[in-house]
This record gives sequence, structure tokens and C-alpha cells, in this order.
Amino acid sequence: MPNPDVVHTVDDLRSWPPAGVHLAVLGMPVAHSISPAMHNAALAEMTRRDSQFADWRYYKFEVDSRHLREALDAFYRTGFRGLNLTVPHKVEALDCIDDVAEDARAMGAVNTLLRTDRGWKGYNTDGFGLGRALGEAFGVKLAGQTVLLIGAGGAARAAAVYCLEQNCAQLTIVNRSADRLEELGNRLRQLGYGDRLRTYTADQPFDVAPRSVVVQATSLGLKERDSLPFEPARIPADAVVMDMIYNPAQTAFLKALGERGVATANGLAMLVWQGVRALEIWCGAEIPVECMRKAAQKV
Ligand code: NDP
Repeated sequence: MPNPDVVHTVDDLRSWPPAGVHLAVLGMPVAHSISPAMHNAALAEMTRRDSQFADWRYYKFEVDSRHLREALDAFYRTGFRGLNLTVPHKVEALDCIDDVAEDARAMGAVNTLLRTDRGWKGYNTDGFGLGRALGEAFGVKLAGQTVLLIGAGGAARAAAVYCLEQNCAQLTIVNRSADRLEELGNRLRQLGYGDRLRTYTADQPFDVAPRSVVVQATSLGLKERDSLPFEPARIPADAVVMDMIYNPAQTAFLKALGERGVATANGLAMLVWQGVRALEIWCGAEIPVECMRKAAQKV
């Protein structure tokens, strides 16, 4: 069997062994991805209960976005059961696949592909991951909540659609650039969510409602020298705040909020739960969540 610990390329598919059930994450870069560790740990645990999973393996492939369509065809021809897509493929993949789940179409991005007789079917499990992570960390359900979403990129897009679909009472989105904010706002209004939606650019004043659920979905905080994505003092002490970033485990934003007594959580549980949902889609069996979480925490 090929080595799941190394980064593969599409060229490797030419000599890919036919035996076994193959899964993979496609990205660029992809070497840092935690997904192979999480999924292979879960599959090893599942094999202990059911030997049918003994030859299931999850790999990582570096794929250039210029060749995504050809790559997806090659993975299909080679017989892969499922794929995860990460940066920069989540949006472009929509134009390359044969069927898309309704919520993923609304989000405008897919992160999970399932092999079907008619080709790849796309799903987006990021919203599900966020919802389960919020429940786990703070005991909140999105229905009826006032949500503040910081950011309007790909991850924010999935989060926004999911929050609205889960019947949050109000969604406020704040973003640095007006163009991406407007694009997301227009998309959500076209989907019929305009009455529960407010959008602001970072320089526009607005109040954050008491007891808000705050989701930090910008990339600010990945690097040590990054500025804060939002002024912590504007967030009420009774809010709960999830930063989608999980590495570092505590961003400067979460640290500042924690010092003010605000309940916070990082994005690791979201990552784990989006993976759990993807594996469920591929195999339809019960997934050992704690085993995936342990593997993710180790990386
Ligand atoms: P995108 O590149 O699509 O979006 C980036 C966002 O960050 C945009 O809103 C962008 O604003 C904002 N941003 C970037 N730089 C700055 C800056 N200097 N000042 C202000 N705003 C800035 O990224 P993704 O949406 O794919 O990912 C966002 C984050 O979420 C990443 O950290 C990623 O790791 C994390 N993530 C976590 C997941 C999990 O499972 N935990 C899943 C998916 C993502 P603008 O529009 O103005 O450029």
C-alpha cells in the first residue's frame, strides 16, 4: 500500500494499486494537513470493530488549482471512494463535479466529495463542524442566537449559510474589505436571508449584542505578529467566542478575551467534527470521534 505519511502527486496515480478503499485530501500546500492523521486513526479503530475497514486508507495529495478538473477525473478513474478539498480548491471544485448537496451549493464551496455512479457529489461539512463545536464548547444551539461573524472568506461563507439555515435570530457579518463583504451579503440576500442579516465593513460602527455567539473566521492570528481581527473590548463579557484557528491553539484574540472573562474556544473541535461528518458520508458507519480528536491534538 502507498505510504499515507508522505505528500503524493497526481502522477503517483499512474501506478496506484487497485486494491483497497482510498480516500485523500487535495490541497496546495497540503503537507501540514492534520486530516490524514485523524482519518487513519479513526479507520484503524473502526477496523478493530469491523474488518471491512482494514484496507481503507487516507492520503494527502498536492494538487495545483490549474489542473484541478483533470486531477478530479484521475482520482475518479483510479477508483477513490472520497476526497476532502482544502485551500485553494473548495470553490473552484463546484464547477468540476457532477452533483452538489443543496447546502453546499448555497455555501458556494465544497470540502468533501463522494464517489457516485454518475461522478463526484460535493458536500460541505464545515458548517456542521462549526455547529457541533459550538455545542460542545459552550452548550449553545444556533437556533434563536444572535451571531457575530468576523470575516467573509470561504470559511465565513460556509458558517454564514449554516447559521442562517439553523435559524439563528440575527447574523451580523463584519469584514475588512467591502467587496468580499458585499459579495457574501448579496449571496445571502438572494437566498432569502436578508431580514436577519446585517453587514459592516471593519471601519463602520455597530454594537455587539449581549450574549452574542461570536465566530472569528479571518486568517488573522495564524502568525504571531498579526493584528487583532476585532477589538476585544467591544465584545460583551457574556458572549461566547470561537476562533476557527486551531494552530496556534490560542490566538492573541482569544487570549485577550479570556483575560476579560469571556468564554472562548479554538477551531480544533470544528476541524474534528467536519472530518467526522466527511467520514460518515464516505462509509455510513459510526465514527470514533474521540479517537479522531486525540489524533488531531497530537499533530
Ligand atoms: P480566506 O482567505 O477565504 O478568507 C480570509 C479572511 O480573512 C477574509 O475575511 C479576509 O478579509 C480576512 N483577512 C485576511 N487578512 C486580513 C487582514 N490583514 N486584516 C483583516 N482581515 C484579513 O480564508 P478561509 O476563509 O479559508 O480561512 C479563514 C480562517 O479559518 C483560516 O485561519 C483557516 O485556517 C480557518 N479555518 C478553520 C477551519 C476549521 O475547521 N477549524 C475550517 C476552515 C478554515 P478580506 O476579505 O478583507 O481579504
